[in-house]
Amino acid sequence: MATSGTLYIISAPSGAGKSSLVKALIDSEAQIRVSVSHTTRAMRPGEVDGVHYHFVDHPQFTAMLEQSEFLEHAQVFDNFYGTSQKWVEQTLADGYDLILEIDWQGAQQVRRLMPEAKSIFILPPTLEALRHRLTNRGQDSGEIIERRMREAVSEMSHYVEYDYLLINDDFAHALSDLKAIFRANQLLQAPQQQRHSGLLSELLV
Ligand code: 5GP
Repeated sequence: MATSGTLYIISAPSGAGKSSLVKALIDSEAQIRVSVSHTTRAMRPGEVDGVHYHFVDHPQFTAMLEQSEFLEHAQVFDNFYGTSQKWVEQTLADGYDLILEIDWQGAQQVRRLMPEAKSIFILPPTLEALRHRLTNRGQDSGEIIERRMREAVSEMSHYVEYDYLLINDDFAHALSDLKAIFRANQLLQAPQQQRHSGLLSELLV
């Protein structure tokens, strides 16, 4: 039987580089999956339905909520986001480590339901760097960028609730830190014992 995977929550303010780090991590680690959330937000250029998000309208989101299909859900900015409970449970049961890229509100809900989940908060190196990244996306007006900056400070105030704190100053360095967190957890005694039960019974004759 496959060893059950570990659930990871990763949060960061918008513009801290979370999605790029997670993408680079899963591109190099075959046993890690990322949950694709449902959202009512409009699709951005370059986004693909079913890949970046499952894009749904308000009635669809409300119906899923009423049918208790979400492990967690939250309103972020002006949109609703939710994580499919069934998909999370199945992926973990299949033995994959699973990442939820969610905000602090969702993180609090998941911690209550699954206290064994590991959580990671990613910070930008400076406020200027954050502003620079938000501006360089070229997706938002000055007013929206200022609002996102205020929301970012509010999101960052929750870093204390997380197990790990990562600073995304240098991308390669931050990626190596992220990989180290996953590797260290894979090497914990309990999952290693399950993975290597054959070896252990051979060694301990
Ligand atoms: P964006 O719309 O820029 O992709 O994401 C905005 C915020 O929503 C980010 O902080 C992101 O982590 C959060 N988010 C994305 N999916 C979910 C989800 O399923 N649940 C919760 N609680 N937050 C989410």
